[in-house]
Amino acid sequence: MLAINGTFDDNRSVWLVGAAADAPAPALAQDIAVDVAIIGGGFTGVSTAYQMSRRMPHLGIALLEGRRLGNGASGRSGGMMLNGITVADGDLEDEVREHDLTHRAMDAIEALIAEHGLKVRLQRAGSVKVCTTNRAAEEAHARVEKLAALGLPLRFLARGKLDGLLRAQGVAGAVFDASEGVMNGVDLIRALRPLLVAQGVAIHEATPVLQVREGRTIELTTPGGTVRAGAIVLATNGYTPRLGYFRTGLLPVISHAIATDPLPPELLASAFGSATAFADDKPRLAYASVDGDGRIVFGGGTNHAYGYQFGNRTASNVSLNDAAGRALLRSLLAYFPGLGDVTVRHRWSGPLGLTLARHCAMGVRGSHNNIYYALGYSGHGVVLANLAGSVLADLYQGNHDPWRPYAFYNYRPLGIPTEPLRWLGYHAFTMATGHSPWKRLTAPVRMPQLGRGGGT
Ligand SMILES: Cc1cc2nc3c(=O)[nH]c(=O)nc-3n(C[C@H](O)[C@H](O)[C@H](O)COP(=O)(O)OP(=O)(O)OC[C@H]3O[C@@H](n4cnc5c(N)ncnc54)[C@H](O)[C@@H]3O)c2cc1C
Repeated sequence: MLAINGTFDDNRSVWLVGAAADAPAPALAQDIAVDVAIIGGGFTGVSTAYQMSRRMPHLGIALLEGRRLGNGASGRSGGMMLNGITVADGDLEDEVREHDLTHRAMDAIEALIAEHGLKVRLQRAGSVKVCTTNRAAEEAHARVEKLAALGLPLRFLARGKLDGLLRAQGVAGAVFDASEGVMNGVDLIRALRPLLVAQGVAIHEATPVLQVREGRTIELTTPGGTVRAGAIVLATNGYTPRLGYFRTGLLPVISHAIATDPLPPELLASAFGSATAFADDKPRLAYASVDGDGRIVFGGGTNHAYGYQFGNRTASNVSLNDAAGRALLRSLLAYFPGLGDVTVRHRWSGPLGLTLARHCAMGVRGSHNNIYYALGYSGHGVVLANLAGSVLADLYQGNHDPWRPYAFYNYRPLGIPTEPLRWLGYHAFTMATGHSPWKRLTAPVRMPQLGRGGGT
């Protein structure tokens, strides 16, 4: 029987297990003036602080994080390093260009790790995207042939040739991308902290920005002092609407995840084949990855795995609930029927930032052109939020041309209705699309009661 056994940490992600110790930076306790104030200490904020301080050592940069670095989605993700900027299929030419961009962005993460000798658990053994209908499999097959001919490292796996989890009921075929991987985001953020400090970035944790007053010099109100900045960076992804920005462009959705205990290599190989991650093609997307220590990390596949709270309160109310845990276990079992007696020990949730176009936005706005933003990664942020630092540093230096061809460049997401239509729309969409094809499977599941929690 697959069961949740043992003691849970309260909403702490699996990526914290075995991560280096990390002492918090002091909260801001005085008024300061800087050239750039970065709000948010996830991949976006940390990569931007790294790139700006490295390229422009003369800049005064403050990184303001409401809780701890990695507190948000970056420390709570599925870890999958994915190609592309969106889940939707688009123009072939766009897909090649975007795949190339994200492939290079993954190479850049590896190069950064190698350059500084960082201790980050990262593996690039490829991942699979599962097709759940015959029609989707046929279309994927035809598309992969074309994309492979254009040079992308993709392979179509027909149902008869599938191994491991891909033999699960309902899987019609899959696309294998050899260049994708899995990364422990907590490792990366913790390893980068000393580099930021060495490059002169002033990090303040437990420093939530409460208010932004725009102007040629922007004023940020925090509990311990005011920050006056020539420019700011909104690196707050799913939390951004709470600051008053992108309220009708970004939907903050809570996403729940679970992870098993470490599994023997032969069991993992029988489940995943040679890949270390997969995702499916359902609207309530299911995904799994193998962390650096052999645990299966699993999320999605059911309505219960995601949630939206009225009035954009989602990101501030990240909480666990039993229905989500039970549903995730059933979903996990449906994909991995051969898992047997496996213990699921970790369970957590975090905020996603979704746009209607299902791709991110990176650019600069404001009447003084001094509000930089990178957000709305729609489930693709492990790579793209780490790329954001290079994009925003380029834009700050006035170098816009390399980024103009991409859909995210200066994109201003819109179109998400205000309440109550937003809440009603979310639930209508969920009811219409959210049913897993494996919902009939009802695994025996035991769940402990879990309290609320939110911090890493
Ligand atoms: C369960 C889950 C699974 C995921 N799986 C994947 C995956 O497998 N692959 C993938 O590519 N993407 C995945 N994602 C998405 C990915 O993790 C995010 O897109 C990415 O981490 C976003 O990084 P970020 O730095 O922009 O935002 P975040 O990591 O959310 O960081 C924002 C930070 O801002 C801080 N903050 C917010 N408001 C304020 C304020 N007012 N003042 C100061 N600080 C503030 C928060 O505390 C937080 O630390 C997943 C997300 C979740 C939740």
